[in-house]
Amino acid sequence: MRTSQYLVSTLKETPADAEIISHQLMLRAGMIRREASGMYTWLPTGLRVLRKVENIVRDEMNKAGALEVLMPMVQPAELWQESGRWEQMDAELLRFKDRHQRDFVLGPTHEEVITDLVRKEISSYKQLPINLYQIQTKFRDERRPRFGVMRAREFLMKDAYSFHLSQDSLEQTYQAMYQAYSNIFTRLGLDFRPVLADTGAIGGAVSHEFHVLAASGEDAIVFSDQSDYAANIEKADALPPAVARPAATAAVAEVATPNAKTIAEVSTLLNIDATQIIKTLLVHAVKANAKSDDKAPQGLVALVLRGDHELNEIKADKHPLLASPLTFATEAEILAATGASAGSIGPVGLTIPVIVDHSAAVLANFVTGANKDGFHLTGVNFDRDIQNYQTADLRNVVEGDPSPCGKGKLVVKRGIEVGHIFQLGEKYAAAMKAGVLNEEGKHQIMTMGCYGVGVSRIVAAAIEQNHDQYGISWPDAIAPFQVAIVPMNMHKSVRIQEAAEQLYKELTAAGFEVLFDDRKERPGVMFADMELVGVPHHIIIGERNLDERKVEYKNRRTGEKTVLDLDAVVAELQ
Ligand code: ATP
Ligand code: MG
Ligand code: MG
Ligand code: MG
Repeated sequence: MRTSQYLVSTLKETPADAEIISHQLMLRAGMIRREASGMYTWLPTGLRVLRKVENIVRDEMNKAGALEVLMPMVQPAELWQESGRWEQMDAELLRFKDRHQRDFVLGPTHEEVITDLVRKEISSYKQLPINLYQIQTKFRDERRPRFGVMRAREFLMKDAYSFHLSQDSLEQTYQAMYQAYSNIFTRLGLDFRPVLADTGAIGGAVSHEFHVLAASGEDAIVFSDQSDYAANIEKADALPPAVARPAATAAVAEVATPNAKTIAEVSTLLNIDATQIIKTLLVHAVKANAKSDDKAPQGLVALVLRGDHELNEIKADKHPLLASPLTFATEAEILAATGASAGSIGPVGLTIPVIVDHSAAVLANFVTGANKDGFHLTGVNFDRDIQNYQTADLRNVVEGDPSPCGKGKLVVKRGIEVGHIFQLGEKYAAAMKAGVLNEEGKHQIMTMGCYGVGVSRIVAAAIEQNHDQYGISWPDAIAPFQVAIVPMNMHKSVRIQEAAEQLYKELTAAGFEVLFDDRKERPGVMFADMELVGVPHHIIIGERNLDERKVEYKNRRTGEKTVLDLDAVVAELQ
């Protein structure tokens, strides 16, 4: 590829609204452009990388025996009503009507569609097990899209779904997917970690997440320094505490809206232990705030508890909140009580203002957190309002605790969730009556697994792990180009032009993806662009070296430079 015929689109300035390095570099290197909140166009350089990730994922899925399909992105509401998720999902599920006023959704995931396909297509145990996958655009109306393609609304996912008649068979495929995922992330050249994951409301089943380790990661993972034990923090936290810590103490805030219930009232009303309520809500609040503001809230937290989300949470614990006569505070009441500015809080629900004082220093200011991303007051000045608080105080696990496996101590790290595999069991198949005739000729519901990879998120995650002050330094497997040819002042020298053209021809013929910088630019501009875009190998052609029929080679990652014979370049790079 010649830069003169390519869309280089690099930017010198760091875009102001990009918070993390991968987002900044993807914009600066001309990989993506924002179209709307959480929606991006992939420019040629970005798309080259995305396709490489996609192909590695596809290759490993095929090797593991999965079959590729392509399902529609638009899905009829009936399927979601059948599975029960039409009611369960919140606004993350984008719903709309067609011209006949029929309800549809933009697929955030495809369990319903695949289960519908399989129940129609597969009728006998002889056709099982089967593992079907696709690489498809997903749409999730994320409350806080951010970090570019890292948490987008429209993004590319590889999702696979396997169907079985026995738990044994499910476990075999699950194991094969676990291995395929390990192969994928190894081939991508990423530092990753599979961890046990919380199965949440789905309950019971086994699940693992694959995390790329990075300080900017939105998730926390823990692992033993002496064994293979590794889990996401939610999973580890669900275990009984290994170390006794003082329970969170709580006092009810004096500022309360007329309709708000105090923790004590809610406790009586719902017959739930007050400490338990506070702890549950605070973990959510801290998580939501840590995700959305980078700094965890400290010390004082007042919770704006929105009805339906907490209903789900508490229902999962079998608490009778659904049946309770709770009333809701209005937005105006909450604003008046907290002094927050209009528009700064999410949908309004029951408010439970609480002060939790871990440091014995009761702070005078009022800070409002929430149990869900975005459901919190913004504009809070953490340094002014909040001090001496450790997120870990609200958890059962902190760094240095004994590992639940009995060996070693726990280490806490930040991770980016790039893959998630799950033994679903019969949840969808039972709800949608997806069964086959078994060996005895009887109708039997299938058991399922599902396996997701965040293909577009991987591109951002790879940059979080592979960059320096000059730009991106791609792992070879996913670099947009392998070799850059940088001829100095080519337009003034026939000799340089000839050498560059010859090298371009030879390298291309040898199968390299070459970016030939034939622009009329100063060498400094060309070097900077090739480093920013992250081409791993640079060949610099200059007059002085050419006197001896030599060129300079520079390794993008190490910065190491050597002089090579012009005629030996292809052989050296192979
Ligand atoms: P998260 O916890 O980050 O919201 P998730 O658990 O909701 O992710 P899954 O339903 O497990 O996501 O989807 C499978 C994979 O899709 C995730 O592991 C992640 O890599 C990717 N993914 C999920 N949401 C997004 C998003 N908004 N933007 C980009 N990739 C995403
Ligand atoms: Mg999510
Ligand atoms: Mg997740
Ligand atoms: Mg997940």
